[in-house]
Amino acid sequence: MLNLRRRRAVRVASAVLVVVLFLFLGACAKNPVTGEDQLVFMSESRELALGNAYYPQVIQLNWGTPPEDHQLQNYVSDVGWNLADVSHRPNLPWRFTVVNSSQINAFALPGGKVCITRGLITKMSSEDELAGVLGHEIGHVTARHAVSSFTRRVILAGALLGLSLALTGTDYGTAALAGAGLTGGLMMLGYSRDQERQADELGYAYMTKAGYNPKAMVKTFELFLSLRNSEPSLIQGWLSTHPPPHERIAAARKRARSSPAGERSIKTEMFQRSLARQKSLARAYVAMDQGDALAKKRQWSQVAEQYRKAISLYPKEGMFYTRLGMAQMEQGEEAPALASAEQGARLSNGTYYPNLILGIVATANRKYSLAVDAHRKAAEILPGQVINNFLLAKAHDKIGPRSSAVLYYRKVVKASPTSDYGKEAAKRLDKLGYR
Ligand SMILES: [Zn+2]
Repeated sequence: MLNLRRRRAVRVASAVLVVVLFLFLGACAKNPVTGEDQLVFMSESRELALGNAYYPQVIQLNWGTPPEDHQLQNYVSDVGWNLADVSHRPNLPWRFTVVNSSQINAFALPGGKVCITRGLITKMSSEDELAGVLGHEIGHVTARHAVSSFTRRVILAGALLGLSLALTGTDYGTAALAGAGLTGGLMMLGYSRDQERQADELGYAYMTKAGYNPKAMVKTFELFLSLRNSEPSLIQGWLSTHPPPHERIAAARKRARSSPAGERSIKTEMFQRSLARQKSLARAYVAMDQGDALAKKRQWSQVAEQYRKAISLYPKEGMFYTRLGMAQMEQGEEAPALASAEQGARLSNGTYYPNLILGIVATANRKYSLAVDAHRKAAEILPGQVINNFLLAKAHDKIGPRSSAVLYYRKVVKASPTSDYGKEAAKRLDKLGYR
C-alpha cells in the first residue's frame, strides 16, 4: 500500500515536472484565428513535427484504413482541402484520413492532421454533413486548440494506457484487444467546452465559405443524438468529450436560420458515389461490432459466429479473421486460431494489431519463430508499444538470440518500469544476469 502510494507520488511528480518544463518553453505567439497573443507551448515547426510523429500511430491504433478503398480516401481528402483552403491556416500540410474504426468519432492532431472514422462517415448522407465535421476539426487546428491541450492529453493518455495494462495483467490477448478498444487514448481526452463551441463556429464559417449548407451541421448533431440511444457503446467516447448535442443543435439551427447559405442545395451525388462501397459492406462491420460486444461478455462461440458471418459478407477484410483467431484461441482451438490469425495478418498487411495478435496466437501454438516475425513486424509498423516489445522479448527468450531478448526486455523496463510487463521484464533480466 505504502509502496503503491509512493509510486503514485513519483508519477504525479514527474507529470508535474513535464508540465512545468513546457511552461518554461512556452512563448507568446499570435493566434491565427483571433489575432490575439496567446501563450503556446510550442513553435509551429514543433507543432508540425508532433502531428507528423503521432499521426501514423493514431491511424494504427484505429486499425489502419479500410481496405481497398482509395476512392473514399481521395474524396475525403478533397472535401477536407476545400475547407482547409478557406481556413485561417491554408498553408499547413493538411491530411485527411478515414480510419477503420466502428466508433463514431473524428479528431485532429496538431499541425493539420485529421481523422474521421469509418463508423461516422458511413452514417452520414451528404458532403455537407462531412464538411461540417471536418470543418469543426479544422477549427480545432486553426485556433491551435490541439496545441494547447496536446501535452496534457499525452500525459493523461500515457497514464491511462499504463493503467489498462496493469489491470489486465498477464492476460495478453485480452490486453491486446483492450488496447484496440482504447483506440488511442489521446483522442478520447477532449477539449474544453469553450474550445468546442469555437470549433463549431469556425466549422460553420469554413463550410459556408467553401459553398456548403450549414443546415447539414444540424443534421449531424441530430445524428449524434439518435446514436446516443441506438448505439451508445459506439458513441460513448465522443459524447464524453463534447458538449451535449441538444445545446449544439440549438446553436447550429440559429446559425443556419440567419445564414443565406441555408438556402443552398445539399450535395449528395458525389458523396453517395464515394460511400457506395462502404455502405454496401456495412452489414459485415455490424456483424463484427456485434461480435466485439459479445466478446466483452466472453461468449466466445457466439463471438466466433458473428466474426464468421462478417467474413462471409466481406472475405477481404483482414481484421475479421484476426478477431476470429482471438475467439478461437479463447475456446482452446489453437491450430484453427493460428490459421485465422495468419490470414488476418496477410490481408491487413501493414497494420499493427493483426501482427501483434498473430504473434500471441503463434506463441500459444509454440511457433516461436513465427511469433518473433509477427512481433517484429508489429514493432516496425508501430514502434515503442510496451506489450509488443514484451512479447517479442519473450519469443526471443525461447529461441534466441539471447541478446535480442535482453534488448527488448530492457526497452520494456525503460518505457514502463511500474507496469506488470516492466516488472516481469526486470525479473527476467535479473535471472539472466543482465541487470
Ligand atoms: Zn471538437
